[in-house]
Amino acid sequence: MFHAVLTSETDWAGWRAATRSLVLGGVEPNAVRWTVGGTPHLLPEATGSFGVSRTLVSLASVAVQAREPERFGLLYSLVWRAHAGETLPDDDPDLRLARRWALAVRTDAHRMRTHLRFMPVGPHLLGWYAPAHYVLEANAQLLAQRFPARPWSVVTPDSSAHWDGTALRIGAGVPRIEDDETLAAWWDAHGDAILCDSTPGVTVPPAEELDEAPRPPDRPAIGPIVLPVASASALAAARTDAASCERCDLCDAATQTVFGEGPADAAVLFVGEQPGDQEDTIGRPFVGPAGQLLDRALEESGIDRRGIYITNAVKHFKFTLRGKRRIHVSPSPEEIAACGVWLDSERAIVRPKLLVLMGGSAARAVLGRPVAVTRERGQAIRLPDGQMAFVTVHPSYLLRVPEGEAQVREYRAFVRDLTAVRELVGMV
Ligand code: SF4
Repeated sequence: MFHAVLTSETDWAGWRAATRSLVLGGVEPNAVRWTVGGTPHLLPEATGSFGVSRTLVSLASVAVQAREPERFGLLYSLVWRAHAGETLPDDDPDLRLARRWALAVRTDAHRMRTHLRFMPVGPHLLGWYAPAHYVLEANAQLLAQRFPARPWSVVTPDSSAHWDGTALRIGAGVPRIEDDETLAAWWDAHGDAILCDSTPGVTVPPAEELDEAPRPPDRPAIGPIVLPVASASALAAARTDAASCERCDLCDAATQTVFGEGPADAAVLFVGEQPGDQEDTIGRPFVGPAGQLLDRALEESGIDRRGIYITNAVKHFKFTLRGKRRIHVSPSPEEIAACGVWLDSERAIVRPKLLVLMGGSAARAVLGRPVAVTRERGQAIRLPDGQMAFVTVHPSYLLRVPEGEAQVREYRAFVRDLTAVRELVGMV
């Protein structure tokens, strides 16, 4: 029995080197034990070479980040079989498992980039996150490439990553942190020691080489990256990423992604359902009839549209054709969930005090459950991340109310809601 010892859970280079020695040494998968940490054991002398497909190497480089104890052995077995000339069918159970792990890693990497929040500690930015898989190092490289100007640290229970403006270092993990105050206090007490004991991470190539950079773990799937502090450039980066989104089928028929707009440090973030016909054509949210009605109501309630961030839960227009007319169709819960990453990005960057959820789709996107707008309208709801949410109707609802007294009554009620929003922001 051979014992392959890796230096860390993310020791991709160590796994590759051991795999090469073992394959060239003719060591069958069931004769290898893989562990992380401990005294290195001698592996067979590696002479000669062999090749497996780039696809398999790429898959292994992502799946190796999964929090699955048996991943090193299973991936070795896939390489062993491929090197022996076996064609791995698509329904091979090990291959399918590795693909499932890779998908989970990519999803987790994406989630980390969209949910990660930083807080300033002196000139440093500090973020804490507990990823489901070992995705910190690959994500840290992307963060360093995208946002090289300011030093930051990301700490997780497994390890920590530190960027000083020129080099990335990897250090020890930290205990689970519950809130910003505890994190700041913990950093004050241990930050210097962690930085001192950290070791160089992988070299970070210049941003312009990003697309040609090696595949994961050097480069996980690219998604929106969130700057921790209010930042117009982070919004621009997220907008650029969203422009090529194909997470659901709605991008097929729509003209373009309609991302949110407004100041990156807005105190209030308005969320609608999805762009309409005109928004889809123009590429800006709330510029059609519902947007014009909203503008009027905002003005009457004393809210300056230029000071708010306004977006939609779903960024592509969903419609059905009736002759030449494109008729709005409500997005499904799955489409709302798929598009949630972009709304999460906007929320994480803007960090508003208050989210105004206009209509059931917006409320569902943020509250994560079906919402009866008429029942929950007008209440301030505290969200798990500390932000407040306020449910009201979507302005397009007002357009559907029959003209006359009922429409006037509903419009006045909407203006009252917006007035309450303005007052609430002063209070939150
Ligand atoms: S609707 Fe959202 S998730 Fe779907 S493709 Fe468009 S941007 Fe992506």
